[in-house]
Amino acid sequence: MRLFEQRPFLGGRATSYVLPDGEHVDNCQHVTLGCCTNLEDFYRRVGAQDKIKYFDRLLFQDPQGRTGTMQAGLLPAPLHMTGSFLTFAPLSQADKRSIASALLQILRGKGHTEDLDTPGGISMLEWLQKRKQTPGAIERFWRVVLVSALDEELDKTDARFGVDVFWKGFLSNRTGYRMGVPAVPLSELYDGCKQEIERRGGEVSLRMPVRAIHFQDGGVTSVEFDGGRQEFAEAYVFAMPHEALADLLPDDIKVKEPGLAHLENIKTSPITGVHFWFDREVMKEPFVTLLDTTTQWIFNKTALYSGKNGSREKKEQYQYLQLVISASYDLLQKPRQEIIDLCLAEVRQALPAAREAVLVKATVIKEAAATFSPQPGVDRWRPRQQTSVSRMFLAGDWTDTGWPATMEGAVRSGYLAAEAVLRAAGTPKKILQPDLPPDGLVGMFV
Ligand SMILES: Cc1cc2nc3c(=O)[nH]c(=O)nc-3n(C[C@H](O)[C@H](O)[C@H](O)COP(=O)(O)OP(=O)(O)OC[C@H]3O[C@@H](n4cnc5c(N)ncnc54)[C@H](O)[C@@H]3O)c2cc1C
Repeated sequence: MRLFEQRPFLGGRATSYVLPDGEHVDNCQHVTLGCCTNLEDFYRRVGAQDKIKYFDRLLFQDPQGRTGTMQAGLLPAPLHMTGSFLTFAPLSQADKRSIASALLQILRGKGHTEDLDTPGGISMLEWLQKRKQTPGAIERFWRVVLVSALDEELDKTDARFGVDVFWKGFLSNRTGYRMGVPAVPLSELYDGCKQEIERRGGEVSLRMPVRAIHFQDGGVTSVEFDGGRQEFAEAYVFAMPHEALADLLPDDIKVKEPGLAHLENIKTSPITGVHFWFDREVMKEPFVTLLDTTTQWIFNKTALYSGKNGSREKKEQYQYLQLVISASYDLLQKPRQEIIDLCLAEVRQALPAAREAVLVKATVIKEAAATFSPQPGVDRWRPRQQTSVSRMFLAGDWTDTGWPATMEGAVRSGYLAAEAVLRAAGTPKKILQPDLPPDGLVGMFV
C-alpha cells in the first residue's frame, strides 16, 4: 500500500502547522463527540486516543452574562439532560416548551420524522417552523448547536442532518454529546498513521500531488505525478476533496460513472478561526459557547494543551485562546483587522478578565471551503466509495456516508472504501464500527 499526499504533512483539513515565531496553531479547532464511534476507533488504531480529552459539561453564555449548561444528570436517556435544560437561563419557558415538543417528535420517530423523506429534502429552518419553534429557541438553541455541528445556516441545511445530530448526540444515549477536544496540536494526532502504514509494509510519500489519472477500457490504469512519473496498482482510492477529483476526471468517465457527473453540485461552506494570545490568564473554563454574537466558541488552548504545546516554556506568560465561527460567510470579505477588533470586543464582553489584559498577538485563518455544505438533498450528489470504474474507489467526507462533513464522516468513508477494496479482491471484511447503541429508557423501547 502506498499513500501519496500533495502536502508536506498528513492530516488534510484537520491539521496544524508552526507559525514563523514557533507557535503551533491548528488550521482551526477541531472537536469530536461521543457518538463519533469510527473516529474513536481510528484514534485507537493510530495510538492517538490518549491525546483527546473528553468533557461532559458544555457551557453556554449570552451577552447579558446568563449561562446554561448541557450536562447529563442522574436520569437515564432521554431524560439525562432534563436538569440542565430546566435551568438553562438564556432560554425562556416558551422557548423550552417549543424545544421539548420538537425533541419529543424526534424521540417518537426514533430519529426520524415523515417530512424528512420529502423528495429533495427540507431545510432545518422549515422543519423547525413547521414545529412552531419560537425565535428564541431557533436562535439560542437549534442554531447554536447545528451551525457549529454542520457548518451551515439552518435555511441551507438538510433537516435530516439536524435531526440526526439531536438523535445521536443528545437523545438516544447518555454519552453521545460528550465533547472530545485534542490536547495536542492536530498534526500530532497523525504521528502514528505513518508508522502504522510502514509497520504493515506500506509507504507514505509526501509532496506528491497526483497530476493525472489514466484510464483505459473503463478502468484506471495508472496515476501520474510531476515529471511524468507513473504509479500502477491493483486498486486506487482517491481521497482528495471532491473539487480536486473533479478537475482530474475526463468527461467520458463522468458520463460512464453517474456518481462522478454531479460533483459540482456539492457546494462548500466556510469556517473562520481567530487566534488570540493575551499577556495573562483571562479564562479558566476549557471552552465556552457564546450566544447572540459573531464568535460562536472560545477554546482555552492553554488549558487544553496543559503544557503539551510547542510553546510550553512561554505558557506561564500568556494565555492562548482560539475562537471558531462556522458558516462564516459574512467574514470572508472582511479585512483581518476588522475581524480581530470585532471578536476582541466580544471576548472582552464575555470574559471580564480580558478587559484589562493586553492582546499580545492575533491571527485569523479563513477556510473558505472548510466543509461540504449539507444542503437539502445533497446526499443525491454524494457518490459511493465503490464506483463502476474498474479499480477506482473513493474516500472523503463528501462521499456517501450518511454523515455530514466531519472527521467521523471522513473516517467512515475511509473504512467503507477499504471494505469495498477488500470485497473487490474477494476477501471481504467488516471494518465500519456500529453507532453507539441507544441506552436508558430509549434502549428499552428502540
Ligand atoms: C476550519 C475547519 C474546522 C473544522 N472543524 C471540525 C470539527 O470541529 N470536527 C469535525 O469532525 N470536523 C471538522 N472539520 C471538518 C474536517 O476537517 C473534515 O471533514 C475532514 O478533515 C475531511 O477529511 P478528508 O480526508 O475527507 O479530506 P481532507 O482532510 O481535505 O484530505 C484530503 C487530502 O487530499 C490531499 N490532496 C488534495 N489533492 C491532492 C492531489 N492531487 N494529490 C495528492 N493529494 C491530494 C490534501 O492535501 C489533503 O491532505 C473542520 C474543517 C475545517 C476546514
